[in-house]
Amino acid sequence: MSNTANKDYDVIIIGAGIGGLVCGCYLAKAGMKVLIVEQHHKPGGYCTSFKRNGFTFDAAAHSFGSYREGGNMRRVLDALDLDKRIEIKRYDPSDIIISPDYKITFWADTDRTVEELQQAFPEESESIRNFIRHLTTAKPIDFAVLRRKTFKDFLDRYFQNDRLKAIISIPILGNGALPPSLISAFTGSKIFTEFLLDGGYYAGECMQALPDALAERFKELGGTLKTSCLVKKIKVRDNEVEGVVLEKGNNVSAKYVVSNADARQTFFELLGSNVVEKDILHKIDGMVPSLSIFTLYLGIDRPPATLPKAGTNVWFLPNYNLEDLYLSAKNMTDDIEYFMMRFSPDKKTILAFANAPFRDRKFWYDKKLKFIDTFIRKIETTLVPGLSTRVVYKDAATPYTLYRYTLNYKGAAYGWATFPSQLFTPELKMTTPIKGLFLTGHWTTHTQGIPGVAYLGCDAAKLILKKERTYKK
Ligand SMILES: Cc1cc2nc3c(=O)[nH]c(=O)nc-3n(C[C@H](O)[C@H](O)[C@H](O)COP(=O)(O)OP(=O)(O)OC[C@H]3O[C@@H](n4cnc5c(N)ncnc54)[C@H](O)[C@@H]3O)c2cc1C
Repeated sequence: MSNTANKDYDVIIIGAGIGGLVCGCYLAKAGMKVLIVEQHHKPGGYCTSFKRNGFTFDAAAHSFGSYREGGNMRRVLDALDLDKRIEIKRYDPSDIIISPDYKITFWADTDRTVEELQQAFPEESESIRNFIRHLTTAKPIDFAVLRRKTFKDFLDRYFQNDRLKAIISIPILGNGALPPSLISAFTGSKIFTEFLLDGGYYAGECMQALPDALAERFKELGGTLKTSCLVKKIKVRDNEVEGVVLEKGNNVSAKYVVSNADARQTFFELLGSNVVEKDILHKIDGMVPSLSIFTLYLGIDRPPATLPKAGTNVWFLPNYNLEDLYLSAKNMTDDIEYFMMRFSPDKKTILAFANAPFRDRKFWYDKKLKFIDTFIRKIETTLVPGLSTRVVYKDAATPYTLYRYTLNYKGAAYGWATFPSQLFTPELKMTTPIKGLFLTGHWTTHTQGIPGVAYLGCDAAKLILKKERTYKK
């Protein structure tokens, strides 16, 4: 289908996150001449891994969901024949939630999870069954009607018990970075179905296996991946893209450009204020990014006796007031109140995550070590006694680190905050007011998380392919 005419490429994709890589694979598979430009030295964005002192750590994302038969992630990877290249395992249970009064396990077998919830909350038995049935049988349109409601509205339709509502919502606060009263019911339900009811999948030995397999497939399909190269500008003439300018001033031309980079960077820096209408820039300027995450990396010499099951996400919920817990994370009190931790499948490392706000380099330079020790102590006093005596390596990624490695605005973990008012913002759909410029990834206000951005990568490619067919008619 290649139609470069006098251009260097048909499509240039800015960023090799999962969104950009999937988009590139679909376009290259359709025969287009595609270049992906990534500023980091390896592909993956938030899905990279790294080695330190003999330990391998996932830098940010560490598992994904929606890989059941017919799930979004399964469909995307199957269509690229990636299911045969990377070994995808599912950890069962995917998640365990520990609160002062309950321990609730999310099993691969949903009926077993339902039974466990019913035993803990017998008075809500029927509502639990109906709630899970609704989410597991819902069609896309059923989710779409939830977009103007909050997840709290949605839970209130089913449940009376505030503790049950908090237990269901803690992974949504952790994975969506908003409490139930602020997150849209659409996003909350998606997280619940895609991360919990069908969660716990892991690619190969570490998360890097997923972007590496996508990058390899992309190149096999004829695509070109250029790493360690920052895109400085998107060139536009008469409201139509012409290509990009790379960091050393090289111009590369293309008929289409897809930005997988943060949308503020795309609109304010790569396009610039004289290209996009002031109203649009003003609107984007007023939008709120999602909260960031402080990630703790621990290497241990031997597994502590009481360590939770390897591969399972374990959530610690100290009380049932999620609105207050969210505010304490957002305002960054000296303590860490709620968190999630995961003992790696090889039982050599621990990753632990706490929502945290963006602060500048100096702030984290002063605070990081103290915060690491506070976090270790917290895990030790709540879930893993004796942990500190087993730690032989410790480090952390602060919200500033996330920004530094991926250029995501304020180290936002999930793109824009998914308030109902920010979902599906017309200016931040996959299409843009500039002809030939498309967006993909978690800054499009459509989605977040690995299955979501993978699906959007595929959707952005389909939009371009549709346009090409229209041009050719
Ligand atoms: C700590 C943490 C844990 C998470 N855990 C999970 C999890 O377990 N499961 C899950 O499903 N989701 C998780 N998420 C969310 C998930 O990782 C993201 O939603 C998803 O990976 C985003 O993918 P993306 O392709 O949209 O963008 P990104 O991964 O941000 O990729 C964007 C890419 O663009 C590149 N780029 C930016 N600007 C330029 C430029 N000017 N020139 C060239 N390249 C550029 C960046 O370097 C980056 O590689 C987590 C997020 C965080 C922060």
